[in-house]
Amino acid sequence: MRVLVTGAAGFVGSHLCDRLVAEGDSVIGVDNLLTGRLENLEQLQNNAKFEFQQLDVSEPFDIGRVDYVFHFASPASPVDYSNHGIETLKVGSYGSVNCLEIAKKSGAKYLLASTSECYGDPTVHPQPESYWGNVNPIGPRSVYDESKRFAEAMTMAYLRYHKVDTHIVRIFNTYGPRLQLNDGRVISNFMKQALRGDDLTVYGDGSQTRSFCYVSDEIEGILRLSRTDEHLPTNIGNPVEFTILDCAHKVLEVTGSKSRITFEPLPVDDPKQRRPDIGKAKRLLNWEPKIDLAAGLRLSMEYFERAIELERKAETAAV
Ligand code: NAD
Ligand code: UDP
Repeated sequence: MRVLVTGAAGFVGSHLCDRLVAEGDSVIGVDNLLTGRLENLEQLQNNAKFEFQQLDVSEPFDIGRVDYVFHFASPASPVDYSNHGIETLKVGSYGSVNCLEIAKKSGAKYLLASTSECYGDPTVHPQPESYWGNVNPIGPRSVYDESKRFAEAMTMAYLRYHKVDTHIVRIFNTYGPRLQLNDGRVISNFMKQALRGDDLTVYGDGSQTRSFCYVSDEIEGILRLSRTDEHLPTNIGNPVEFTILDCAHKVLEVTGSKSRITFEPLPVDDPKQRRPDIGKAKRLLNWEPKIDLAAGLRLSMEYFERAIELERKAETAAV
């Protein structure tokens, strides 16, 4: 297959490109490098099955005929989408239309990377796909949440009106190597802080929960979904739930760090709880995650150590 991956230089997109190339597909990765890095694609640089194009998918673009479109471009960390609010809304709206048009013209299948943020600050727990969510449409997180909710609506519209063979994955908090060291997400922050011996910054009292999925489990679930006839959104995430304070302790345990934990104000509209109901994914895809948080953190440690070392060298060189 000739496959288009948008957001290819990002954390999840780069792992997706690796898997698709390893399975024999020819991949065209596109990215405008807003929050991604070319280093994430270094391993594919000399691979004849992979081609990279630097472009903004919120503007119309042409990459020729493809068999599958994976639309993963979008800032995803709360810090990134707050810094790039308009770009985030554009890539979910204009970007989605541009990518869906490519799928329509090519007769290609399409998969949208959506998010657990569609459930907002959920009042139903755990979250099944049938839950419509509790989203603040005008708060600071709305640039991301409404971008993705619009992207889902547009995807369903191309299915209904243009008969494009679409799929929607709702990704829950995913982590692993290639997370950007400074994207402000909880795993990046805690790993960096723990490995540098800095205080771990827990926002609020740390009683809010998240459910963390290791990236290889996430990619496996997404690929299985992409090969089904299922059009409605499907949750892919790890259903084991942690308070953020528990997560901080887990990072300290795995890294063997002596860092302390400090408490900082909770960001506005920070969801109080989040845990996927993965009953549908289990039934439909015969999929469930295999790697627990401690194991996933151990698998990520070498990457974070190296990223910290590179940052230190760059800081020293700049002085
Ligand atoms: P990321 O920031 O590492 O990757 C996103 C990539 O999209 C970056 O490389 C960025 O440069 C690129 N991009 C942004 N706007 C673009 C544009 N207009 N044109 C071309 N490229 C553009 O984030 P990620 O964690 O890898 O997230 C990837 C996708 O998965 C996103 O759509 C995100 O919403 C979704 N997702 C991720 C998580 C998670 O926990 N990682 C959770 C839910 C959903
Ligand atoms: N968080 C934290 N300390 C940090 C970064 C994040 O306590 O240094 C909290 C954040 O307030 C949220 C959770 O960790 O409750 C997950 O945050 P993240 O930014 O990773 O993603 P979210 O799930 O909120 O999109």
